[in-house]
Amino acid sequence: MEDCKKGVYQQRRESRRYFINEDVCKACGACFAACPHKAISGEKGKFYQIINTRCRRCGICKKACKHDAIALSTAAIRMLKPQENMENYKKDFYQKLRSNISKWANSKKGKKYKWAQYLLIAPDLFHALCRSVLDKDVPLYEKTKLSLVIAYFISPLDLISEMIMGPVGYIDDVALAAYALNILLNNIDPQIIARYWAGDEALLKTIRRILADAEMMVTSGMWRKIKKAFR
Ligand code: SF4
Ligand code: SF4
Repeated sequence: MEDCKKGVYQQRRESRRYFINEDVCKACGACFAACPHKAISGEKGKFYQIINTRCRRCGICKKACKHDAIALSTAAIRMLKPQENMENYKKDFYQKLRSNISKWANSKKGKKYKWAQYLLIAPDLFHALCRSVLDKDVPLYEKTKLSLVIAYFISPLDLISEMIMGPVGYIDDVALAAYALNILLNNIDPQIIARYWAGDEALLKTIRRILADAEMMVTSGMWRKIKKAFR
């Protein structure tokens, strides 16, 4: 079959793609351990994704997943999912965010920065926002607001620019994310968001700590602007 001269078999094989359904995945890592081609990336207890450029479509991960979280999509189905590129972009952004902030926090500057503890939470906040926006139990109105916060996070040219300030530039994103998640927790069942929270301390406690310090973190004028823009 692999030697089909017209390449039909190969085309069919290439038009299929395995993907991990984030709503079902328990981030147990069994697929990651099973893949013989190192085509799955992620972190235990957080998330996993298939790297399509490495995937050989062997299906071993699907068999290894006890939660039935891996499915095979065809090109046609993928075309019906226009948000897929954006979701991949968000995953890349999350991974870069985590690695840049961790590296920076261990640097001389990072160790001296007063609010470094909050910057280290930035990837967890971003992850919670991205997962919540996809949850079927989150109302559309709330999703629209969360999408704006995600866009603010991703934009390097916001009130405190990451392009100019480096990782410190994420401090306003952290404040805004905490502000937005706090409103969301008041409007819907907190358990919905809690299941997407990967931070060490309880989500509500973390949010309260950030909000208590937000004015000092970003200056009172900027904090007013952030809250006004989100209202
Ligand atoms: S289909 Fe095979 S190569 Fe692709 S991710 Fe799964 S185990 Fe790895
Ligand atoms: S084996 Fe299944 S549940 Fe576990 S990380 Fe992989 S996709 Fe998720």
